[in-house]
Amino acid sequence: MSDQTVSPMMQQYFQIKEQYKDTMLFFRVGDFYEMFYDDALKASKELELTLTGKECGQKERAPMCGVPYHSCEAYIARLVAKGYKVAICDQVENPKKAQGLVKRDVIRVITPGTVMESEMLDDGCNNFICVLYTIGKKAGFAFCDISTGELYAAQVSGDSLEDKVKDELLRFSPREIIIGGDTPEIHGLADFIKEKLNACVDLMTDDKFDLKLCTSILCNHFKVSDICSLGFETDSLLPSAVGALIQYLQITQKNGLERIAGIEFYNQNKFMHLDYNTRRNLELTEPLNSKNRNSTLLFVLNMTKTAMGKRLIKSYIEKPLMQLSEIVRRQNAVEEFFKDTELRMNLREALCGICDFERIITRIVYGSANAREMRSLCTAMQKLPVVKEVLASVCSDMLTEIYKNIDVLEEITELIDETLVDDPPFSIREGGIIKTGCDKELDELRYDMTNGTELVAEIEKRERARTKIPKLKVGYNRVFGYYIEVSNSYKNMIPNDYIRKQTLTGCERFITEELKELEKRILGSKDKSFELEYEIFDNLRKKVSESLERITKTAKAVAQADVLSSLAQAAFDYNYCRPNITLDGTIRIKDGRHPVVERMSDGNFVPNDVILDSCENRVAIITGPNMAGKSTYMRQTALIVLMAQMGSFVPAKSADISITDSIFTRIGASDDLSSGQSTFMVEMNEVAYILQNATSNSLLILDEIGRGTSTFDGMSIARAVLEYTASKKKLGAKTLFATHYHELTVLENAVDGVHNYNIAAVKRGDDITFLRRIIPGAADDSYGVEVAKLAGLPEAVISRAKHILEELEKNGRAIVVQKKSKSSPAEDNGQLMLAQVESPIVTRLKAIDINKLTPMEAMNILFELVKLSQSN
Ligand code: ADP
Ligand code: MG
Repeated sequence: MSDQTVSPMMQQYFQIKEQYKDTMLFFRVGDFYEMFYDDALKASKELELTLTGKECGQKERAPMCGVPYHSCEAYIARLVAKGYKVAICDQVENPKKAQGLVKRDVIRVITPGTVMESEMLDDGCNNFICVLYTIGKKAGFAFCDISTGELYAAQVSGDSLEDKVKDELLRFSPREIIIGGDTPEIHGLADFIKEKLNACVDLMTDDKFDLKLCTSILCNHFKVSDICSLGFETDSLLPSAVGALIQYLQITQKNGLERIAGIEFYNQNKFMHLDYNTRRNLELTEPLNSKNRNSTLLFVLNMTKTAMGKRLIKSYIEKPLMQLSEIVRRQNAVEEFFKDTELRMNLREALCGICDFERIITRIVYGSANAREMRSLCTAMQKLPVVKEVLASVCSDMLTEIYKNIDVLEEITELIDETLVDDPPFSIREGGIIKTGCDKELDELRYDMTNGTELVAEIEKRERARTKIPKLKVGYNRVFGYYIEVSNSYKNMIPNDYIRKQTLTGCERFITEELKELEKRILGSKDKSFELEYEIFDNLRKKVSESLERITKTAKAVAQADVLSSLAQAAFDYNYCRPNITLDGTIRIKDGRHPVVERMSDGNFVPNDVILDSCENRVAIITGPNMAGKSTYMRQTALIVLMAQMGSFVPAKSADISITDSIFTRIGASDDLSSGQSTFMVEMNEVAYILQNATSNSLLILDEIGRGTSTFDGMSIARAVLEYTASKKKLGAKTLFATHYHELTVLENAVDGVHNYNIAAVKRGDDITFLRRIIPGAADDSYGVEVAKLAGLPEAVISRAKHILEELEKNGRAIVVQKKSKSSPAEDNGQLMLAQVESPIVTRLKAIDINKLTPMEAMNILFELVKLSQSN
């Protein structure tokens, strides 16, 4: 493309674009970032910008659109949110000093996983990029949030690798995933990433994962001579995964990578296993219905005061712990805040107004923070001494460590405070950011700038006196600069040292050596002072960067203190108790409540007990009418276990929680229409997944299994699943099993460890009152008709349904058999007639639990019955 006729700037553009083909190139021209050709076409559409054209020496004008540089972040954010990569090409030398074409280069590539601008980030969420490197049955992960400098690495291997990989990705929900090795062969992974994670994927070539290359990259980055000292194990995929990640960041970020200062290794057993459905069904951090923002556990528990705390509490919820000692450590800290109200209140007050300095320090290290951000860092740090002082008297282990880790960073705070003005402007290139008295040279330059006009007036006055020319005046124009103007009538009084510059009709203009000097000083001082201010600012930024480690450590400590005190506040406000964490396999909850439903039920929530253990009480079958509260009861149990393992207090009077390795849920008919699977298929897939992945140490929440198919099928499957989970030889997991198949309640006597419970309701006439109390034993009735009435079904339908039900019950479920003649109507004067030899129709009818039918299902069955009758 770069032929002779192309303008030099466009030649430069083509050269740079060639190296960044897969990005949207933002090309700085003056005060704008311009996009050309395809980029312009795409960007104008995505950002609703006007498409124009640029003469570039070719036959056709180049399509072009642009955005002002000072508001580019909002546009970049929109593109990145849509999955684009944006390469920022800046002028890398001062255009005023450039000889010929100003030098330009890409200073950074912003991708969905490498964003660090606060405008583009959700302050309550980490923003992870992931490298996933798979070889055979092993997969290595590297997760990095460059905005906070966190880097995690983990390896999974063995059977059902596919599930393990997905679970690992869910734990971090990365925005961008770079895959390599055999990863593309993992079954269903591409769809999973697209649909469930909504992340973008890049493929990295094998050479980037080369162990030798990666080892040397890691040694360089972390400044070690041997990667073992970083914690890598031999024969692991992790050096390649982390090495490839660092390479990608080097290409996209160019500088500032020292922000990533260490690697945290963890293995899967460190955290409770939670799959996609469980995270969703339990509404941990995202509501099932996006309109209901306040239906999540995060919403209820999050009382943090800082963005850093907000992110951390989310990760506490997403990663419940497995280690008894770690859980107890957190509990002790929460309890200290819980019991000491003054401590808690003081700390929470001290945390108010502390900005997100964990992310600001990143931008400082990368050299992209402006003076305002630097000021807010300073403001935050000025609050640290109070935070530290509040924590001075703490006793628990974790709080003591937090106290130690908070570094009040006095000298940095002072340095920033002394250097920067109190309310600096947005731009760091246009002066006005450095305090007076900070730098002598700057003060002089500023003096010249502001006193220039005075000096000019002084010269004018002096020259008038010297030359005795009353109308002599000093003026300024852009072409000639400063001059002395004398009208023609005083021509003969002009002194010798005036140099003629310009002759106009009524007057002449002169300059003097003194005036020239002054001009240089005044005009030069503005540019010089701006440059000097930038330089001083940049030095300050570098100086602050040197304290990266101390600042990061402090940020982490502040976040922890924030989260622990927030958990204590929730426990205090909502009357939670400290659960007793054990390893004995027993979950015993006294008066447990659902943390979220409780908040919405105006103090009317009815608490319930739970007992599950690894022998006598492995499985609880829960029956009861629709709307009784079965699902709520099961979910609350799962949430209480999860909260306990986060280190939080729980909504109960008391609780013994044995550490659970995973929670699985199968709830409701989440129709996955988009993937073209039937409800039943989805349900069975989920059940299969649970049975394959659960262990005897897992908690299973199975809500209405078998609902998606015909009654007999459904009941058979439900029973088989229940027997399987109950059997100690097979799974023996703790299971809460809600079902509308009352027939299953016979299992209490048939299978070891199974008990019946039901949620009580009382019937008075046609009306039903839910007591919401779980009691031992099977439900005696499903109260379907009453619930239907409650739901507002027409009176006629209710009374007809009652009539049919009475008939059925009168005849017993063993129905009086009568030969059905072809001519006899199935229904006669409201009397129910039933066939003598059980016809398929009757079999089908008997299997129907009418209380559980949706209108649509009823229609389908009717359709089926009509078809059956025709085939008879
Ligand atoms: P089921 O699964 O038995 O059909 P749900 O668990 O969906 O019933 O509960 C239905 C409604 O009853 C819930 O939306 C909730 O508002 C209310 N509810 C459930 N359990 C309780 C309780 N223990 N105390 C107060 N209200 C409850
Ligand atoms: Mg339910």
